[in-house]
Amino acid sequence: MIKSYLQDFKPYPPGKPISELKRELGISGPIIKLASNENPFGPPPRAIRAIKEAISDLHRYPDPAAYNLRKALASHYKVEPEEIVLGNGSNEILDLLVKACLSPKEEALMSEPSFLMYEKFVTAAGGKAIKVPLKNFQHDLQGLARKITEKTKIIFLDNPHNPTGSIIYHEEFEAWYKALPKELVIVIDEAYGEFVDDPKVLKPLFFKNFSPPVVLLRTFSKAYGLAGLRVGYGIMQKKLARILNAIRQPFNVNSLAQVAAQAALEDRNFLQKVLETTRTERKRLTEALKALGLHPYPSQANFIFVDLHQPARKIYEALLKKGVIVRSMEAYGFPSFLRISIGTPEENTFFLSRLEEVLHET
Ligand SMILES: *Cc1c(COP(=O)(O)O)cnc(C)c1O
Repeated sequence: MIKSYLQDFKPYPPGKPISELKRELGISGPIIKLASNENPFGPPPRAIRAIKEAISDLHRYPDPAAYNLRKALASHYKVEPEEIVLGNGSNEILDLLVKACLSPKEEALMSEPSFLMYEKFVTAAGGKAIKVPLKNFQHDLQGLARKITEKTKIIFLDNPHNPTGSIIYHEEFEAWYKALPKELVIVIDEAYGEFVDDPKVLKPLFFKNFSPPVVLLRTFSKAYGLAGLRVGYGIMQKKLARILNAIRQPFNVNSLAQVAAQAALEDRNFLQKVLETTRTERKRLTEALKALGLHPYPSQANFIFVDLHQPARKIYEALLKKGVIVRSMEAYGFPSFLRISIGTPEENTFFLSRLEEVLHET
C-alpha cells in the first residue's frame, strides 16, 4: 500500500517548543528558545495592523495570484511579477521545484549537512538525494560538481549555509557555474540572505536567465518575523515560474499572509532594527563565546555554529534544565557543536550567563 521508498520516512525534527520543555522539566522560571532561527523581535508592527484590517474578509478565498504581494516583490527586486512564485513558506517552493524538475530515480545534489527539507522532498518524490560533505565548513562546490551525472536535475545550495552560517562568494560561484552542464536547476536558498553583510556574497539573480537557470528562494519567516504565517517565494525565469504556478494549489498563500507579507516588506524601520541588532549581537556573541574558550565559526546568518570541544549533548541538556533551548548538532554529524540562534540582547545575555554556569559545572 505504501510506496517502498517511504517506508521508513521520519517527520522533520523541529526545535523543542517552549511549552514542551515546561511540561517535561516543570521549569517555572524564564525559558528562552534560541533553536529555530526565528525572529526574536516579534512580527513587524505594520504586518499586525494589516492583519487586523484584513480579518473581516476571511470568509472569502485569498487572491490566487497574490497580485499585490507579487507586484510589491517584483518592484523590490526589480524583476517581473511573472518571475515570482509564492509559497506556503519557501519550503513549498522547494517541494514545487522537485515536483516540476525531478522524476523518480533522478538525482538532486546537496551538501552534508544542509537543510533537511531538501532531502525530504527529493526522497518523497522517489528521487535520490546525493550528499557531498562540507569542506572547511563551507559548500564544496567542486566536490558537488564531481557528483553530477546524466540523472542530476537539481543542485540545492543554502546561502548562508545552515547550520554553519558560511557563505558562497560571487566570484567563486561564477567560475564554477560556467563549467556546469546546462540541463540542471541551481537553487540558491537565501532564507538568511537579509542578514549577510559581506559585499562579496553571491548575487544569484544575475544568473536567473542563463543556462543552467538559477532560482533564488527567500522567505518572510526569518528577518521579516512572520514564520507562523508561512510565506516564502522563489524568483526564477518565467518559463519555470509558469510551471510552478500551474502545479501549485491555487490558494497556497492565505489572505492574512498575503497582506502581512506586503506590509512587512514596507516596514523598513522594523527590518532595519532587526538587521542592526542581529549583526551587533552576532559580533558580541561570537566574541563572548571565544572568551569562554569555545570556537564559534564566522556567521553571516542569525545563528552561530560553535565547537565546544566536548560532547555537545551534555551541554545542550544542562542548558535545557536552566531554561535555554538551543540546537545540538549531533544529528547533523557534529557531536561537539551547538547551533545558537541569535536572540534579543537580553536573551543572549541570559544564554551566555547560563552557558558559563554550565561550563563551570561540567
Ligand atoms: C528556515 C529555513 C527556510 C525557511 O523555510 P520557510 O518555509 O520559508 O519557513 C528555508 N531554508 C533554510 C535553509 C532554512 O533554514
